Amino acid sequence: MPTSGRYVPYYDDIVAAMAAPGCAFCRLQLRAAERYIDALLWESVNDPRIRRQVADARGFCNRHAWLLIRPGGALSSAIMYKDIVQAAAQIVRDAPAARQSLWQRVCAIFGRHRPVDDPLVQALAPQQRCPVCANAAEIDTHLCETVLSTLAKSDEVLMHYRASAGLCLVHFRSLLSYARQPAARAALIAVQQEIWAALDRELAEFIRKSDHQARGEKFGAERDAWERAIALISGPQPVTSSHFGGITQSER
Ligand SMILES: [Zn+2]
Ligand SMILES: [Zn+2]
Repeated sequence: MPTSGRYVPYYDDIVAAMAAPGCAFCRLQLRAAERYIDALLWESVNDPRIRRQVADARGFCNRHAWLLIRPGGALSSAIMYKDIVQAAAQIVRDAPAARQSLWQRVCAIFGRHRPVDDPLVQALAPQQRCPVCANAAEIDTHLCETVLSTLAKSDEVLMHYRASAGLCLVHFRSLLSYARQPAARAALIAVQQEIWAALDRELAEFIRKSDHQARGEKFGAERDAWERAIALISGPQPVTSSHFGGITQSER
């Protein structure tokens, strides 16, 4: 997969992301996905090996596929997805009905609709992970290792973490899974607990002020606590079109 445009966040990037709204790791993951897709679209789309990998993954996952919507992304997307459409059609052509197992034929005769172990269904499934997801897993590892190696030397990262919006549940779990050292693990848990407790108080205040008995009381900082809670637990709102990237323009 493309390497020249690959984005690997440094510690300073983590600190900067912790000062911005939302989960710092999600923010950096979006940046990494944007850069990765840029490299793929502008540098690697003519590489047959990479085109094959994207086709074997049956395209990108839903979350990452829509990042292809960006200035100048149309032609490269058309080229890659043409491969996948052709591959799917070829798989179906190569799987004659005669290859149905006896069990499948019995199910068909008796009208049973439970899913069967169908080779065609298997062949149409992704044969490897979405390439951007595979890159994201490597970035996650790198982010966790960077935070933990920094924490092993100083508590400074805890200060930035405490002042941040906290990590989303996925990334908090990810960080904990790498935190083997008991003191570091306890320190990270304590910070995330503080962040959850503060958000819990804001949610309670939002709920209280939403009651008709509190009519007339103006909302304060808690006005968007419910949106921040969704992001902190379920992850950020999916980006459906990129604000970044775009070396060439193909809009007409
Ligand atoms: Zn996150
Ligand atoms: Zn993906």
